[in-house]
Amino acid sequence: MSHPRREHRRSRRLLRQMDRAAARATAPGRREVPRAVVGLGVVVALAVGGGAALRSTGWELADLAHPRAYVEVDGRAVAVPRPDASDGRLLPVVEAATTGSYVFLHTLDDGSPVGYDPCRPVRYVVRPDGMPSVGQALVDDAVAIVSAASGIMIVAAGTTDEAPAMDRAIIQPDRYGDGWAPVLIAWSDEGELPELAGAVAGVGGSAAVPGADRTGTWLAAGRLALDTADLNAMLVRADGYQQARAIVVHELAHVLGLDHVADPDELMHPITSTRTDLGPGDLQGLALLGQVACEE
Ligand SMILES: [Zn+2]
Repeated sequence: MSHPRREHRRSRRLLRQMDRAAARATAPGRREVPRAVVGLGVVVALAVGGGAALRSTGWELADLAHPRAYVEVDGRAVAVPRPDASDGRLLPVVEAATTGSYVFLHTLDDGSPVGYDPCRPVRYVVRPDGMPSVGQALVDDAVAIVSAASGIMIVAAGTTDEAPAMDRAIIQPDRYGDGWAPVLIAWSDEGELPELAGAVAGVGGSAAVPGADRTGTWLAAGRLALDTADLNAMLVRADGYQQARAIVVHELAHVLGLDHVADPDELMHPITSTRTDLGPGDLQGLALLGQVACEE
């Protein structure tokens, strides 16, 4: 693996901590411009009943035996992908050791959270265009942090040239095969993604989709876009790496299903503050999101 790189990263971090201490000593009252971070809110994947286009094709009997859910992709009804076979959870359940404020982006009627299937890996692809030199380290760190807090396995699935879009197609056979599109992590700007305008440093979210047999709801096809200029401006600060990492963790927590909270001591507060790690409620919410049932 990449131990030299990790060592290098660690030493850079140490240097940054020293820089930060020095900056505190020499520049009291330095103003921080608050950076807003927003979630994508509720992205509805329309479950279209029946699949009218398929009715006359002789599929009715198969549908009766194995009722199938459909979602709308680019205006077409597409059958929900059946999940890969599973032998159970991929990572142990994380028991929440802290309590605090958390809100779920998607919930079932009984208030329980909608999360990613803990029995299948959450795959992600990175569009590396314009990525800062520490961009991959930021993504690696954030993935490790959010995976450890949730008990959800999050695995790298290469790079992509897919552009981020709010109305992203959640199944893209030509690009990613017949399953759900992987989580897209893209470095972007407000010219490409208007939601990044102003002080917004990132956006993130996932689609809530039905299970293949119409029972259950899970998250799928997440996307996370980072404002490259905002993060670059952050990264030149003494403690910039920790702040930028906090943005990526915050957005990735949106992808896994956490919404904003009003408590400023949580990382899911919409405005970045002094907190750069997951707060007690963030940890509790992510642990609960990692405990949703698996798709059979
Ligand atoms: Zn947010």
